[in-house]
Amino acid sequence: MAMTKLGKNCLRWCPACNLPIMDVKTCPVCGGATLETELTPPADSRPAFDYDIEKTRSMCDACFGEGTGKLLLPEGHLAIMNKAPSIDRMEEVFSDGTVVATLRYDLGRGWRFIVRMQGAMRIAAAATKGWVILNPDAEEFIRQNRNLMVPGVKDADPGIKEDDEVLMLSEDRTVVGTGVAKMSGADMRSQDRGIAVKTRWHKPEELISSDKAHTWDDAVQANAAPMGKRVDEAVAFIKKTVSERQDLPAAVSFSGGKDSLACMLLTMDAGIDAVPMFVNTGLELDETRGLRPRFRRQA
Ligand SMILES: [Zn+2]
Repeated sequence: MAMTKLGKNCLRWCPACNLPIMDVKTCPVCGGATLETELTPPADSRPAFDYDIEKTRSMCDACFGEGTGKLLLPEGHLAIMNKAPSIDRMEEVFSDGTVVATLRYDLGRGWRFIVRMQGAMRIAAAATKGWVILNPDAEEFIRQNRNLMVPGVKDADPGIKEDDEVLMLSEDRTVVGTGVAKMSGADMRSQDRGIAVKTRWHKPEELISSDKAHTWDDAVQANAAPMGKRVDEAVAFIKKTVSERQDLPAAVSFSGGKDSLACMLLTMDAGIDAVPMFVNTGLELDETRGLRPRFRRQA
């Protein structure tokens, strides 16, 4: 059955340039073909800020050892956070054209770092924690999405605790799968039966990576044409809507977030002197309440 798409995923990727490209199938920079991004619908993505990158890297380091975070998200490479549906908050971390990890907030437990196959391939050789080496016979069972049983364990990081995220590796450190430890690493080494790891990701993938670093200014420049088209469409829509309702004053509902800010700026581009409306829910951050924007255009 086809996957249900909740709205269109407009974020594409140029593998040659290693840049995010909106909407268009031909890269405006190099003229090459852009690829669809495999973000979980509704693909509500945004640039990863320094805070997101540092948080992701430090969570990766905590699970798989110092230095793995920087292999997961290389210095100077653009990363994107994609909000995915979950009981609480969940975000996919996208870098160099692929999803490398998921950050999930579990109630009562806190943030959990879930490495994806592409992320696991980036860090496998350097992982000093959270690794499980498989007996060759066990590999095909993991590839069939079966769990790893203790007899399939050749070796394991003794520091693994039950419920930790782990990498399942072949003897040459090829990633066979990722999963959740069902017993400690010490038990995996000493027991002779039971489930060692519940398999999470297991489908073999080609490594997707790029050595091209960029700034967000590069991304904005690359997307000038598709973004300009969107701005023109939105401004035309706002002008038309306001002109059709001349009996009512124009107002922009403003929360302080990225969406309402974009809406406010588009309204200004349309030359409309709209009243910003901010509702203090009582749960606002100080920074949001302190914005007090002056949006009226100067004459
Ligand atoms: Zn390109």
